[in-house]
Amino acid sequence: AAGKIPPAKVYVIGVGVAGLAAIGTANSMGAQVSATDVRSETAEQAESVGATFVPIPIAQEKSDDGYAKEMSADQADAATKLYTEQAAANDIVITTANIPGRRSPLLITKEAVAAMAPGSVIVDMAAAGGGNCELTQPGEKVVTENGVTIIGYTDLAGRLPGQSSQLYGQNIVNLFKLITPEKDGNYVLDMEDEVVRGITVAKDGENMFPPPPIQVHAAPAAPAKTESVEDAAAHARQKAEEAAANKRKRLLWATVGIVLGLALIAATPKPLIPYYFILMLAIVVGFYVITAVTHSLHTPLMSETNAISGIILVGAILQVGSAKPIVSALSFLAILVASINIFGGFSVTHRMLTMFRGEEK
Ligand code: NAD
Repeated sequence: AAGKIPPAKVYVIGVGVAGLAAIGTANSMGAQVSATDVRSETAEQAESVGATFVPIPIAQEKSDDGYAKEMSADQADAATKLYTEQAAANDIVITTANIPGRRSPLLITKEAVAAMAPGSVIVDMAAAGGGNCELTQPGEKVVTENGVTIIGYTDLAGRLPGQSSQLYGQNIVNLFKLITPEKDGNYVLDMEDEVVRGITVAKDGENMFPPPPIQVHAAPAAPAKTESVEDAAAHARQKAEEAAANKRKRLLWATVGIVLGLALIAATPKPLIPYYFILMLAIVVGFYVITAVTHSLHTPLMSETNAISGIILVGAILQVGSAKPIVSALSFLAILVASINIFGGFSVTHRMLTMFRGEEK
């Protein structure tokens, strides 16, 4: 049938490891993806993999360890309202919200599920920790009375054994590369390395657990150093000097231009001087015409204006029969070059127009 089907709308809650992967996959399948997280620093990450970030009106402050903390009552109310609206507006909701050491936060209430369109799907990736949806049954796929499918599988890795094994194997290979830098089977434990430190539970009889929290890249950047009063004054002085130097340079070039222009006018025979004004007007008009025309029409525009050089053809044809051989030769050359210019321009325009007409055929 003619027409096109609108893309599926996917809403991802929780922009951590699982959420970012879900956004990337949904986006690559052509869905229209949006996402929410309590941590404001995830907005940029979500957008970088193709989602529109929908913030919670009262969001948490930036986290410095990459994990969410429990929300206040106000934040939780604002979040529930947003999730209910978004659930009703989307076809697929993927929830991945997780707070380390806690039960999965409850985000999609049964009222929110009731407001969803029949055929909608909720993938509750946090089902193992109790689930982000009130109606999730861990380990099960259920269909509600209003036709919403809620997937609460807790063995997602086991359902994709090939891919899971490949990813796990890749991680193990990378770990061995990290701890055996010489590739000789002898491991070197660098306690400054976050990964090595994180997997070390005991060392030389000492309990190393728990490891210090990992500083993630999404952590807010350290505030910029504030300038001292002297630095600020020196900075302002330097800027003022640079601006004055630029002004002097511009003045010098303008003077050189004016002097050269006057010299050219002085060297030109008097009857030809008015032509400079025509040239200047032509430059101004040409500039405005060309910048006002869309880029795709520049080629046809150029070939039409090239045709104006047909006047050269007329002049050259009149002169080609001259008795002086030099005049004839120059006229012949002018006829050749002007013809290439005119006919070449038209043939390019013709090709372009046939390209546009191709669809009609
Ligand atoms: P993660 O900690 O990287 O991400 C969780 C995200 O949820 C964080 O960005 C956090 O800020 C956000 N969050 C917490 N509370 C929220 C709230 N109320 N509203 C919005 N966002 C909130 O964890 P992860 O690895 O992405 O895993 C998430 C869930 O998915 C876990 O329950 C995990 O068991 C499950 N899971 C993960 C994988 C995986 O491969 N990572 C696979 C299957 C299932």
